[in-house]
Amino acid sequence: MGNFDVIVLGSGPGGYVTAIRASQLGFKTAIVEKESLGGVCLNWGCIPTKALLKSAQVFEYLKHASDYGLKAEGVDKDFDSVIKRSRSVADGMSKGVQFLMKKNKIEVINGYGTLKPGKKVSVKAEDGKETEYSASHIIIATGARSRELPSLPQDGQKIIGYRKAMTLENQPKKMVVVGSGAIGIEFAYFYNAMGTEVTVVEFLPNIVPVEDEDVSKQLERSFKKSGIKIMTSSEVTKVDTSGEGVKVFVKTNKGEETLEADVVLSAVGIKSNIENIGLEEVGIATDRDKIMVNDYYQTNIPGYYAIGDVTPGQALAHVASAEGILCVEKIAGMHVEPLDYGNIPGCTYCMPEVASVGLTEKQAKEQGYEIKVGKFPFSASGKAKAAGASDGFVKVIFDAKYGEWLGCHMIGVGVTDMIAEAVVARKLETTGHEVLKAVHPHPTMSEAVMEAVADAYDEVIHL
Ligand SMILES: Cc1cc2nc3c(=O)[nH]c(=O)nc-3n(C[C@H](O)[C@H](O)[C@H](O)COP(=O)(O)OP(=O)(O)OC[C@H]3O[C@@H](n4cnc5c(N)ncnc54)[C@H](O)[C@@H]3O)c2cc1C
Repeated sequence: MGNFDVIVLGSGPGGYVTAIRASQLGFKTAIVEKESLGGVCLNWGCIPTKALLKSAQVFEYLKHASDYGLKAEGVDKDFDSVIKRSRSVADGMSKGVQFLMKKNKIEVINGYGTLKPGKKVSVKAEDGKETEYSASHIIIATGARSRELPSLPQDGQKIIGYRKAMTLENQPKKMVVVGSGAIGIEFAYFYNAMGTEVTVVEFLPNIVPVEDEDVSKQLERSFKKSGIKIMTSSEVTKVDTSGEGVKVFVKTNKGEETLEADVVLSAVGIKSNIENIGLEEVGIATDRDKIMVNDYYQTNIPGYYAIGDVTPGQALAHVASAEGILCVEKIAGMHVEPLDYGNIPGCTYCMPEVASVGLTEKQAKEQGYEIKVGKFPFSASGKAKAAGASDGFVKVIFDAKYGEWLGCHMIGVGVTDMIAEAVVARKLETTGHEVLKAVHPHPTMSEAVMEAVADAYDEVIHL
């Protein structure tokens, strides 16, 4: 039996980052993983999807080469190579985590971990051998998987989840994507750009439903322009996989509609990995599919902590990492502030990209704020025009009374890199006037942030 200061169960962006920070803080640390190091994010989420999306974007640029005065003839895709490139990027990232574990002297324990009372973890290796380890602190970071709807049971062939969607052997001719959160939307963009006929079915009235309504509407327009069929306020009631393809029965405002496709991607959210990891045996409390934790990620049982997708809070890689760092810093006795879940950026990497932080206009009004709203379209930006990227805008929302930056919403090329400005400014409690007086470089897409803020205060220059 090995003894550690910290054992982390699961090596996603929550787990492996936690382990590194724990090691930096001087803890003897181990990490338990049943698959590849890096979790969903590096192997099946953030990174392989971004590799696929890059291929799609390059393909689109090549197809539109003449827009830039260039000739690119005989442009075609090789679906298999696109998939292989994405897998190789993911493998490389996972190997990178192996290196980081070694560099930080973290013991990697391969196998399936189960929590035991008395601050122990039992790990079953591939050969069936079980070994018990103990630690002063055990951090659960077992993540989540694709959620299944009873009306949409995944069979891995015709009804698939995200893992299969990024490893399909053959490109489908027709695909129905159920759910228009970031995952559904990114795959819809990817497959459409690669030449698949795509229909997105969303239960709520808008696609990317967590975003500001103006952004949702703009994305819907862009997607429709690129040939993606969008069905909002629509519900999949059942599917029929008995024929050659799959029939999808959809209830809409206007009645029933039947869609035919080769493949249906179910992208209706995630289900936490809380089963069969010993939570009940140890007595760790859960509620609505999540492990309950306090501001410092302590569970109800001393010595056991939980972070990442397996806990409440936005299911995002950067949230999982931030939670893990905060959790071990607190264990080390550092004075840490609880995470501000109201200042977490969210990004969708389709084209145009979507990025946001803080309150939407609707939420700000519902919360009783008197607001100032500013908007700057990329069609008025010199950099966007030069780049052939004038689709989209930056929208900012300020509290009229004290000037607090309540929300920032962007849609356009490269906005997922631009949103960090609003995150930092909000963290520093910056007011609109301070943003206005911070000179932005010209020509950049980021000038649109300054101009949107100027618009909120009736000082916009280029509109
Ligand atoms: C298609 C897709 C795209 C995404 N894109 C983005 C994005 O662009 N940006 C973003 O911020 N987020 C994105 N996400 C979400 C992001 O991947 C997750 O929020 C993040 O991976 C959560 O990290 P985690 O450490 O909590 O868990 P995970 O990454 O799920 O890792 C959990 C790990 O624990 C292991 N594990 C589970 N149980 C056990 C056990 N009993 N024993 C041993 N090991 C175990 C698992 O094998 C896994 O490796 C995406 C997700 C998907 C599915």
